[in-house]
Amino acid sequence: MLGALDMFAIGIGPSSSHTIGPMKAALQFVKLLAAKSVLTQVVRIEVNLYGSLALTGEGHGTILAVINGLCGESPSKIESEVFLAKMDLVKQQQVLNLLGQHQITFNLEQDILLHKQEFLPEHANGMRFIAHIGNEGGMESIDFVVNHSLGNNFTDDSSDSNKIVAGKFSREYFSIGGGFIVDKEQITHLGEMVDDSLAPPPYPFETADELFGLCEQHGLSVAQLVTQNELIRKSDADVRDECLQIVEVMRASVQHGIINEGVLPGGLNVRRRAPGLYSKLNVPHVAESAHDQRLLAMAFAIGVNEENAAFGRVVTAPTNGSAGTIPGVLEYYVRYGSGVTQDKLVDFILTAGAIGMLYKLRASISAAEVGCQGEIGVACSMAAAALTAVMGGSLIQIAKAAEIAMEHSLGMTCDPIGGLVQVPCIERNGVAASRAIDIARLALLEDTPGIVSLDDVIKTMMQTGKDMGVRYKETALGGLAVNVVNC
Ligand code: SF4
Repeated sequence: MLGALDMFAIGIGPSSSHTIGPMKAALQFVKLLAAKSVLTQVVRIEVNLYGSLALTGEGHGTILAVINGLCGESPSKIESEVFLAKMDLVKQQQVLNLLGQHQITFNLEQDILLHKQEFLPEHANGMRFIAHIGNEGGMESIDFVVNHSLGNNFTDDSSDSNKIVAGKFSREYFSIGGGFIVDKEQITHLGEMVDDSLAPPPYPFETADELFGLCEQHGLSVAQLVTQNELIRKSDADVRDECLQIVEVMRASVQHGIINEGVLPGGLNVRRRAPGLYSKLNVPHVAESAHDQRLLAMAFAIGVNEENAAFGRVVTAPTNGSAGTIPGVLEYYVRYGSGVTQDKLVDFILTAGAIGMLYKLRASISAAEVGCQGEIGVACSMAAAALTAVMGGSLIQIAKAAEIAMEHSLGMTCDPIGGLVQVPCIERNGVAASRAIDIARLALLEDTPGIVSLDDVIKTMMQTGKDMGVRYKETALGGLAVNVVNC
């Protein structure tokens, strides 16, 4: 079952679907080999990246992420320096230490294949891992029983994908946005995934109508309601600690972003702007004006996404491309809001997470599926609703803020120049943070529902995304990605 806190994950940049997802998939694959006691018999690993992962994977660090995952590293724990150093090591030594336990020869050019013209039918971000076991042709078929790991216990009793045939074992994974991954069986059963080991949540919801209706009916705030749902798998203290840890990492990423200077990696020669913007704005007479405080929120958001682009530690919120928007608004609230307490910060995170869930459940947070409206648009919607909540907004005002933010993000395409999460991504976070603040203030002025409901706009976002041409969906084949000279 999806929970509000699943909309956030602590990890490294620059992309949730192109860095974190593939790293988790690679890690899951080698763990599967280890669980079946064949890891030490692997003689070669072949990684096939398809569609969007092949087209923009280089700029998003996909290859580096896969290498790290195969070596047993997890995005939530690895330090940036360790992550980056792995590539040089593999290039120099042509060796990969699978799960940190078993060394094989590895040739980057031959063992990682980019299929730029080919998309797997299930999703634009597809990958296939093939393990060659022992001497090819000299091995009997081995049956695998797979215990799927996204909180679901499927019994896979038919698939040939669970057998090693002629010394090979392969598995396909899909990175479906926000760092979530599924395998081939799971992607065909996405709507049916239920974890039988947990009690059902007391307040299940999938739509905004259901969420806000339940809050109204039971006299709960959005944050209180999703906390009750989280309690089926965590304690109250765990929920609070997790929220405060997310706040801490978000605020640390802001601090790093407004200090760290230099040029971002990737070859676009994008100079970090946040430190310069911050030093110009963070002076007494400027920082006291409401207008300049919003500009500071932009600098905070820009700083976080510059950290993200430099493989820094950020919170996926709900993706890495959009990792700056919510921290930008959070930092604005901490510095300039009134009556800020730890409880309010917990409410901020849980409210944002609840709104993110609605998009994940009924639409998508994958730019490869729906364009940038699914990343920056969703982050803006989450941030506007969260700020409205902690500024004392009613349920109607919170829903309205979330709706306005997406209504005016509809149709936003994904067109990263050079396939890097830098231009227009970084600035887009700053603009979204500033918009979220204005939208929250606008929503707080009125307490009547608008003509367009939050559910209407979520449905429209999904339809718009489906109608969008593939070149505007994380392929770097359209929009700014082709109209700006990449020098
Ligand atoms: S344009 Fe938007 S969706 Fe595309 S990579 Fe940048 S932030 Fe992500």
